[in-house]
Amino acid sequence: MLIGSHVSISDGLLGAAKEAVSYGANTFMVYTGAPQNTRRKSLDKLKIPEGLEYMKEHGINEIVVHAPYIVNLASPNSSTYELAIEFLAEEIRRAEAFKSPYIVVHPGAYTDSSLDEGIERIANALNKILSEDTNITICLETMVGKGTEIGKTFEELRDIIDRVDLKEKMAVCLDTCHAHDSGYDIINDFDGVMGQFDKVLSLDKLKVFHLNGSLNARGARKDRHANLGANEDNPRGKDHIGFETICKIAHSKYAEGRPLILETPWLDAKTNLYREEIAALKAPGGAK
Ligand code: FE
Ligand code: FE
Ligand code: ZN
Repeated sequence: MLIGSHVSISDGLLGAAKEAVSYGANTFMVYTGAPQNTRRKSLDKLKIPEGLEYMKEHGINEIVVHAPYIVNLASPNSSTYELAIEFLAEEIRRAEAFKSPYIVVHPGAYTDSSLDEGIERIANALNKILSEDTNITICLETMVGKGTEIGKTFEELRDIIDRVDLKEKMAVCLDTCHAHDSGYDIINDFDGVMGQFDKVLSLDKLKVFHLNGSLNARGARKDRHANLGANEDNPRGKDHIGFETICKIAHSKYAEGRPLILETPWLDAKTNLYREEIAALKAPGGAK
């Protein structure tokens, strides 16, 4: 099982890798800087050679980079759009320097335009960004469909990828919280959901999982992550997906060889449950 969590880049790639190892992880996900802005340290300050060396020593060879969520490739505003393209192109260079095989990107929000126009714009942006030399797979993340967010169905993601010329450099990251919140019944029919994915996108396009609980009922379109199997006593709230479901997914054939990344909430500024959640998922039979 390839399992890890989101970790901090504040002490560079080396710090990120060390944090991951401290959780018992064998993969991890980083933003290359703050997720909500585009300020970035130069590559030479990110302890990349040291990080790669440490990863090698600890058997970590597949990681995931997440693009900042302010990148809106669907924006009808031309300056926002141009900025998103420019920034994602740079972000890909940073992710390549980390030797990350995958960069996860939120497709975008169409704001005051339409879904179709948004899809068109995202695909055009990706066609500008991707070239034969691009050495990474862009994974569009499944979204909940809050507001005008694109990517709430497998069909929307397919419609984007269909319009991209270099399709072999495109894939999907399935977020369990998002799939559940957008209405997919991963609790009672995960195989059925995977069957739909295969029919619409083909399973070879599935490259990364984000494993999260959800604070809300299926279809709620809220996008509020919960700790796996959390009950009412958890300060961040009760999980409506449940540990059993996430564990079943983590041990399923669909998860094999694919990075499984936790983005579960921190209980307070200093405490997360990544170590416990990873251990519980790895336990034989997944008993908690
Ligand atoms: Fe995300
Ligand atoms: Fe996610
Ligand atoms: Zn989310």
